[in-house]
Amino acid sequence: MIRETQLRLPPHIAYDDARLSAHVAKTLDVDASRIQGVRILKRSIDARKRRVAVNLTVRAYVDEPMTRDYLVPPIPYPNVASGRQVVVVGAGPGGLFAALRLIELGLRPVVLERGKPVDRRRVDVARISREGIVDPESNYCFGEGGAGAFSDGKLYTRSKKRGSVERILGIFVQHGANENILVDAHPHIGSDKLPAVIRSMRQTIVDRGGEVRFETRVTRLMIQDGTVTGVVTAEDEVVEGAVILATGHSARDVYQMLHEQSVAIESKDLAVGVRLEHPQHLIDQIQYHSPDGRGQYLPAAEYNFVTQVDGRGVYSFCMCPGGVIVPAASGAEQLVVNGMSASGRNSHWANSGMVVELRVNDLPEKFTSAGPLAMMRFQAELERECWMQAGRSQVAGAQRMKDFVDGRPSRLIPPSSFAAGVQPSRLDQWLPPMIGRRLQGGFRQFGSRARGFLTNDAIVIGVETRTSSPVRIPRDGENLCHIGVAGLYPCGEGAGYAGGIVSSAIDGERCAEALAAWLESGD
Ligand SMILES: Cc1cc2nc3c(=O)[nH]c(=O)nc-3n(C[C@H](O)[C@H](O)[C@H](O)COP(=O)(O)OP(=O)(O)OC[C@H]3O[C@@H](n4cnc5c(N)ncnc54)[C@H](O)[C@@H]3O)c2cc1C
Repeated sequence: MIRETQLRLPPHIAYDDARLSAHVAKTLDVDASRIQGVRILKRSIDARKRRVAVNLTVRAYVDEPMTRDYLVPPIPYPNVASGRQVVVVGAGPGGLFAALRLIELGLRPVVLERGKPVDRRRVDVARISREGIVDPESNYCFGEGGAGAFSDGKLYTRSKKRGSVERILGIFVQHGANENILVDAHPHIGSDKLPAVIRSMRQTIVDRGGEVRFETRVTRLMIQDGTVTGVVTAEDEVVEGAVILATGHSARDVYQMLHEQSVAIESKDLAVGVRLEHPQHLIDQIQYHSPDGRGQYLPAAEYNFVTQVDGRGVYSFCMCPGGVIVPAASGAEQLVVNGMSASGRNSHWANSGMVVELRVNDLPEKFTSAGPLAMMRFQAELERECWMQAGRSQVAGAQRMKDFVDGRPSRLIPPSSFAAGVQPSRLDQWLPPMIGRRLQGGFRQFGSRARGFLTNDAIVIGVETRTSSPVRIPRDGENLCHIGVAGLYPCGEGAGYAGGIVSSAIDGERCAEALAAWLESGD
């Protein structure tokens, strides 16, 4: 007999298999010896009250063996070697999930990726921290897996389409991710596990008759009579087919290319700010209301803050409990920071982006005159300024949090997870006031909401600018096709229609479906 039940338990029971099984037996009023297995179906932590509780939905196997059936059934991918060819530009979550969906629909994806396979990428991202050298084709943003590969791998999204989210998580599990991502309210893979999952997705694409080509940068779209017929690569090779353009938020040359080819693009609002890093123990103490921190059972604590300062949103973004800050520049003369964590989330630090919402009309005229590239130009100039302030290096400028808020210099910067190194810098002075002043106001408010959060044990590091795309590539409503070019499907974060791994993956699937429908219609 299988029985499902919902429980609210203290962490020492919820996270201990034997105690959980005994508790389930008691709840179901059966002898403990009759429980042959307990499977967790949903798990979330409620830390709002002093006593932290874990909410669980569990399935108990009473008098029968526990089966290991999939929570989401795996997808049987057909062989598409003789299918119609479609070009997918970019092997980030948008491009990879688009390619897999195309295969399901009987089409043959050819994925073109400017960067290297995920394993070779590791060497290049390590060099950024070690030697301060950014390879413009292989870095934290470019290469197999896209910006999602060496990321925190958080898989939650604000998307309301629960079915689609579960489908995406199921595909990750089918390719080797831990099944816990289907169970936890805040699922997370981790940068140590993501590369194997990405490699396995590539293997499916290749095994089922698709293609993945690395170090192949697309430099031009081929457009005839308003319809895209393929792409041209940096090696002058032509690859024919309808196009899913999933090039991410950092491919400035792609936006430039579209602009030069008169393919409509629009400037987009963007959130910009800094990374904030606390000792993880301090965040555990605050969030779990205990001087002992998280104790033996609970995971590294998260936080989430949002407020308004002078008419603009100020909020925490991409929080990485037990994580590290990484140098996420994708070209020369840029200093950009972001965050990631391993699956165990066991570093000494907690970091998050702390960003201010900027609208295109907040920008000075020297940027707005760039038309659709206005926000991108502003973003690029701020990253360059940050690099200059760091003495033209990747050793990031940092300031203690309270010093930043009070407008004081920090002579000594405490140890940080940022492997490229940090140096004292007056971020309070050189960040544009529309960002710096709002961050100061936001930090004061967050400090009054969570005692101990506004502290000189935390540091701010500049700058966090790759929170989303600075450009939108406009699509035609639910057709998802570009508004002016038939057969072109702008996809994922770079198109301005997604933010994060899961929403980019969902968008990839939707673009594949829309493209297949367009081919079917014969327009
Ligand atoms: C350090 C870091 C941590 C992050 N952590 C998280 C997280 O925990 N959770 C989360 O949801 N999101 C996270 N993100 C954001 C997430 O990675 C992105 O939202 C997501 O990867 C966007 O997917 P995408 O496929 O649209 O674009 P991308 O992942 O950016 O992929 C675009 C791909 O296109 C390729 N490309 C670009 N131009 C060309 C060209 N001309 N020719 C051929 N190929 C090209 C690039 O090399 C790249 O591989 C993080 C990002 C970073 C940088």
